[in-house]
Amino acid sequence: MDKKVLVMIPGPTPVVDSIREEMGRPMQAFGDPRFVADYRKLIDDLGVMMNCNGQCFPLAGTGTLAMEMAISNVTKRGDSILIVSNGFFGDRFIDICQRKGLDVDVISAEWGDAVTAEEIDKKLSEKTYAAMTVTHVDTSTAVVAPIDEIGAVAAKHPEVCYIVDGVAAEAAEYTDMEAMNIDILFTGSQKAFGVCPGMFILWASKKALERRKSLGTIPEYYVDFEKWLPVMENTAKYFATPAVNLVWALAESVRIINEEGYKARCDRHRKNADAMVKAFESIGFTPVAKPGLRACTLSVLLYPEGVDDAKFRAAMYDNGVVCAGSLASLAGKSFRIGHMGNVDENDMIVALGAIERSLVTCGVDVKLGTSIGVYQAEMAK
Ligand code: PMP
Repeated sequence: MDKKVLVMIPGPTPVVDSIREEMGRPMQAFGDPRFVADYRKLIDDLGVMMNCNGQCFPLAGTGTLAMEMAISNVTKRGDSILIVSNGFFGDRFIDICQRKGLDVDVISAEWGDAVTAEEIDKKLSEKTYAAMTVTHVDTSTAVVAPIDEIGAVAAKHPEVCYIVDGVAAEAAEYTDMEAMNIDILFTGSQKAFGVCPGMFILWASKKALERRKSLGTIPEYYVDFEKWLPVMENTAKYFATPAVNLVWALAESVRIINEEGYKARCDRHRKNADAMVKAFESIGFTPVAKPGLRACTLSVLLYPEGVDDAKFRAAMYDNGVVCAGSLASLAGKSFRIGHMGNVDENDMIVALGAIERSLVTCGVDVKLGTSIGVYQAEMAK
């Protein structure tokens, strides 16, 4: 029998059968009227989900390509951009923007903390920026940024295109583009949407689309809004080949989300994450993210005294659950565990059980069942 391993890294996340089945469907031509209709519905449903007043682009590629698409369509060489960074993925924008010849200013938080809306307001008032990037949930720290408060600040600076990297957040952390003044939002298929890796979804507001138009021809080709707009408006048209089966898989994910209700899904993630944090703390772990800034999609947990990271994660794998190591300065000190997408309470209990057994392997004196008891009591409230 194949070893059963529950994938609890912060993406890709477990893929439920009904989504996986879409991946195995017989191929259709992308011009087949049935696929044309399926793609149309997906684009429209995703636009409604995030309350986007412009255009949603669900395309082949990963979150990093969406980062490039976001920057490329609202800035030109020499423009100033403000990068708000709460960790590793916030910092990724620095390299992307420098390579594009932008004038880059960075405002960073200590890992575990978040840059505040007030700090951002101050920066935006000192200089004219074409755009600003904020990482909704930084997957290196599990810090969630106050995107709503930052949106209120962005509204005071209409020259700034407000870009939100929602790769580790969307479909779990509540987002409303219009209410939050977000101009570009994006995510990857493999995170809280619970689909295999391979697609990203980028939402652009009317303002972002207008900014793109004002730039004339841009150097980038595949990620140019202008190349894709005709296809997004009429899915019978061709620019580059859509990832047919992934489009179906994403459509099934959207159906699942809408069946639960988008807001209800976000509320479920919040309740689950709060219960998981209490469970983790009950067996000696400390979240890296400060209270009040803890994402609902994943946790980054400092080990109790004396636990060896490599030994712990190897024991986790042996116990049938895969979690992720930490990044940069947190490597070896903490591990990362996803709790987003189409996972349920039973998956959490399996994960907590594996964590407890792995702690025992690492020599920690933990009473088996402790964290599972805490989790179940919290979820029963
Ligand atoms: N941004 C964030 C917040 C992420 O978590 C990730 C992936 N972990 C990315 C961007 C990059 O996405 P991808 O790996 O799909 O290119």
